[in-house]
Amino acid sequence: MKEDFYEILGISKGASATEIKKAYRKKAIQYHPDKNQGDPKAEEMFKKAAEAYEVLSDPDKKARYDQFGHSAFEGGGGFGGGSMNMDDIFSQFGDIFGGAFGGGGGGFSGFGGFGGGGQRRVKGSNLRIRVKLTLEEVANGVEKKVKVRRKKQAAGVTYKTCSTCNGNGQVTKITNTILGRMQTAATCSTCGGSGQQIDKKPNGADAQGLVVDEETVSIKIPAGVEEGMQLKVPGKGNEAPGNGVSGDLLVAIETLDHASLKREGDNLHFDLYISISEAVLGTSKEIDSVGGKVRIKLEPGIQSGKILRLRGKGVSNINGYGSGDLLVHVNVWTPKELNKEQKDFFERMQNSENFEPKPEKSDKSFFEKVKDMFS
Ligand SMILES: [Zn+2]
Repeated sequence: MKEDFYEILGISKGASATEIKKAYRKKAIQYHPDKNQGDPKAEEMFKKAAEAYEVLSDPDKKARYDQFGHSAFEGGGGFGGGSMNMDDIFSQFGDIFGGAFGGGGGGFSGFGGFGGGGQRRVKGSNLRIRVKLTLEEVANGVEKKVKVRRKKQAAGVTYKTCSTCNGNGQVTKITNTILGRMQTAATCSTCGGSGQQIDKKPNGADAQGLVVDEETVSIKIPAGVEEGMQLKVPGKGNEAPGNGVSGDLLVAIETLDHASLKREGDNLHFDLYISISEAVLGTSKEIDSVGGKVRIKLEPGIQSGKILRLRGKGVSNINGYGSGDLLVHVNVWTPKELNKEQKDFFERMQNSENFEPKPEKSDKSFFEKVKDMFS
């Protein structure tokens, strides 16, 4: 059972924002780790007070807490027992103590021997590239090999423990504040927090011991990506010096237009043109789609404007929900020039009863078809 946030701060439910702030300030001073060295109970109270203040000082969180209690923050809320670390807590202080701790947060971590802190692993910078994909590649997924110019640790480079911070990654400062003597830690500016500095720098390497090297990186692109999406290849950005970790390679997707297929979500559209005689007599056509050739049969008497739906012949869904459809729009091509024989034929047909339009209910209007397409 978690304690009530109001009780922790020793205030009533109707407390104003100023009262909440004042109460927290009092508790923070009372239980501050520097004044209670080696007292785990004080540390516990210090953290509890910070957690209570984190919620009650935020109007949104406070409203949720007032309504639902602790359950408002379970599962993703981030306020499960002691989830705040000391960095979080000290970053509150800029607000509470008006910057009395120097520079409004940011600089605090690794306090008097608890809460972790210490050296952090430096991460190399990310690299960005663009990849152009054909519709076929988008529809089926593809593995692309791209040349990337990455910074890497030069051959023969060595690193040693940073002499400024002795490998801690941080330098400690003693300052006098309203809470008494405070020990604060800041990231070491010599090593940037890694705790290491360059020892042997080979020729051609930069100040961090890195050189630019071209590397072929293989990128697996899943089916169904869209223009503007960004994929991440972890660890294929620039390397970091020392024992740091590499940055990531960020891949922006560009898609190329297809000569005859149009994409709409996971569906594909294709305009098929057939002759009047094909429409009258029926025919069979082959369509070059993204998964290869698709053969479709057109029944005798097919109407211009009919849309044939080929299920699953579209683009694979990026989230794995099957594939879209290929929608074939039938267009009957009317000849613009006729020779004498053809002209005679059509003139004779003008009076034929079979050539007179008699649309049936099943010959849906354009608007009904559009409605169908999106349903
Ligand atoms: Zn250092």
